[in-house]
Amino acid sequence: MPDKIALFDLPRAQLRELLISWGEPSFRADQVWGWLYRSLVSDFDQMRNLPKELGARLGKAAYLQALTPLAERVSADGLTCKVLFALRDGETIESVFMRYERRRTVCVSTQVGCPIGCPFCATGQGGFTRDLTAGEIVEQVLYFARQWIGEQGPRTKDQGPGISNVVLMGMGEPLLNYEATWQAIETLNDARGFGLGARRITLSTAGVVPGIQRLSREKLQIGLAVSLHAPSDRLRDKLVPLNRRYPLHQLMAACRDYGQNTGRRVTFEYALMEGINDSLEQARRLRRLLVGLTCHVNLIPLNPTVESPYQPPSRKMALAFQRELERQKIPTTMRVGRGVDIQAGCGQLRGKI
Ligand code: SAH
Ligand code: SF4
Repeated sequence: MPDKIALFDLPRAQLRELLISWGEPSFRADQVWGWLYRSLVSDFDQMRNLPKELGARLGKAAYLQALTPLAERVSADGLTCKVLFALRDGETIESVFMRYERRRTVCVSTQVGCPIGCPFCATGQGGFTRDLTAGEIVEQVLYFARQWIGEQGPRTKDQGPGISNVVLMGMGEPLLNYEATWQAIETLNDARGFGLGARRITLSTAGVVPGIQRLSREKLQIGLAVSLHAPSDRLRDKLVPLNRRYPLHQLMAACRDYGQNTGRRVTFEYALMEGINDSLEQARRLRRLLVGLTCHVNLIPLNPTVESPYQPPSRKMALAFQRELERQKIPTTMRVGRGVDIQAGCGQLRGKI
């Protein structure tokens, strides 16, 4: 018997082709799509307006659930929740749901592990296993959307997708899994389905230059965050080993083009590590590197991880670094360590709880 089809792996056009090949009228695909991404069903039985035979055939040929939640941890303030999921092949990933102010943000993984191996990141230290499929990426968002909506009671028509933002900042390097990641973004954005605005989606990359160039040519313009962490090649070669392949001059040129092609400002992430990249001289070098770029710098005092030799700087040092950047009128924010008590902060995901 052939393997069952993972329904969340199909783009809308392919779902339509499948149903047409079964002799169904094409509007059936829109109905099924609506059940999956608007009504957020997790079972074929819940697709109430489908003919019984079609529901049964879908149930035989396809499946909906690729992710099984294994464990959940909620931060002490109750605002961050991390879930460990098992995939069908037994691999595990983690996703994070954050409810701050009026936002409800899901941070999703795009790979099992990560091949880049940044020494300060728990994911990187665990090595790489495989890419996620588009459906596995999308389902992480749907899981939290269902949970949120379940808590809110019956939906009103205009309630929207429940989730306000998606950040591709979990485990893995999204631009090394471009096809699946992009398909997932298109599925989440689709106005006939989940309907999450492109402006509410942010992708973070360690600096895969061809991927950034490709992104800048896409019709859909999402937010781009680049993990910089160092103002010189010598240091960045160590902290983000991908820099040896795509050094800073190439990376900055790609970011400049991204800004010009999309009209969006790029965010640079800079994890502050005591005695490594947090000196005032390094802040000045960073300032010079960013001259002429419409950008935003997100400073993140390093989150501790089990194997990392690095430490965050004192608050005083971190603020001095920030002030030095702002002297050039570079907009910055200092990220607060949310979810750190449950290892749900940046770089703390490793696929086990
Ligand atoms: N691979 C992508 C996306 C996932 S990592 C990337 O690197 O951009 C999400 C962010 O967390 C990146 O900016 C990453 O550099 C940062 N990060 C990793 N480990 C961290 C740590 N221990 N403390 C703070 N930020 C960390
Ligand atoms: Fe991979 Fe990003 Fe972690 Fe580096 S920081 S190892 S690129 S997940």
